[in-house]
Amino acid sequence: MQDLAPALSTSPSLIDPFGRTISYLRVSVTDRCDFRCVYCMSENMTFLPKQEILTLEELDRLCSAFVRRGVQKLRLTGGEPLVRRDILKLIESLSRHLASGALEELTITTNGSQLAKYASDLARLGVRRINVSLDTLDEAKFHEITRWGQLPKVMEGIDAAQKAGLAIKINMVALKGVNEHEIGPMLEWCHSRGMELTLIETMPLGDIDGDRTEQYLPLSVVRAGLMDRYTLEDIAHRTGGPARYMRVKETGGRIGFITPMTHNFCESCNRVRLTCTGTLYMCLGQEDAADLRSVLRASPQDAALDAAIDAAILRKPKGHDFVIDRRHNKPAVARHMSVTGG
Ligand code: SAM
Ligand code: SF4
Repeated sequence: MQDLAPALSTSPSLIDPFGRTISYLRVSVTDRCDFRCVYCMSENMTFLPKQEILTLEELDRLCSAFVRRGVQKLRLTGGEPLVRRDILKLIESLSRHLASGALEELTITTNGSQLAKYASDLARLGVRRINVSLDTLDEAKFHEITRWGQLPKVMEGIDAAQKAGLAIKINMVALKGVNEHEIGPMLEWCHSRGMELTLIETMPLGDIDGDRTEQYLPLSVVRAGLMDRYTLEDIAHRTGGPARYMRVKETGGRIGFITPMTHNFCESCNRVRLTCTGTLYMCLGQEDAADLRSVLRASPQDAALDAAIDAAILRKPKGHDFVIDRRHNKPAVARHMSVTGG
């Protein structure tokens, strides 16, 4: 006899109240970093005590729970993901989901400082594309922006990554009066090396030492400036992230714009973010979060964890409320980007 009962799926996908399917998990594997970028951290950061941080095994278990529930893209970020001790063990373990076909992409966002050391291992473990954050090609300015970073080390890392066959997307935060005149040269440099460039607006996350209204540069202004010199053509290319892409006719390369401030990208949001303490943020720009660490540590079985993930996704908000102007000189959310993961 034919069974008329609907097939019971043990792993239904994660769908939020606005009908958005969650297929992308970004995981901050550490809050620590070897740089102190001016828009991201203050110079004297207090980092979390070790017992609050998920172990690599716990991170693996949590990521795997999301993969089981339909997450197809996993990005490790931080802080600086490559300064987490034994990070390759986690990547190696997670790469089993690539082999099984459950996961489409395993990737990282890095400042590039440790890439020379890790690039070939990343490629060996199935990482195909990485994002490298780089705001300037000028050594002195690089030092000014990152406070502790060394540009030659990052360049060495980028060379190693390309040699290992990793596709690279450069992420550049557009900063008024700091690197706004370097966007054209950066574009040409990236495209000449076969790399994509994505520009990002500064977001009001966490207290920093400076004034954000002075750093904020709307990408609408940047795009208009670029259009005086280049022919930018709209293209449909998407990578599962919030960037909108254009083709630069003169170079043949792609440029992406992430514009959380001037253009709200929330309606197509497919992602959630996990911190290194096991806190799940359903939105980068809202305070609401779910504590998955206590659920995880309470039981070796995943049933309660699954239920907690379900409950959290049902609380995913419609969007963020970022504002940067003189009347709003407090960050929209108190935590730094390095906590939630960029
Ligand atoms: N350390 C790694 C790196 O720098 O690529 C990964 C973490 S970092 C927080 C991820 C991205 O967030 C970087 O591209 C960084 O430039 C960006 N970022 C940090 N703080 C930001 C802010 N307040 N507004 C916009 N982007 C920010
Ligand atoms: Fe570190 Fe990345 Fe933040 Fe810079 S942007 S301080 S590299 S976490």
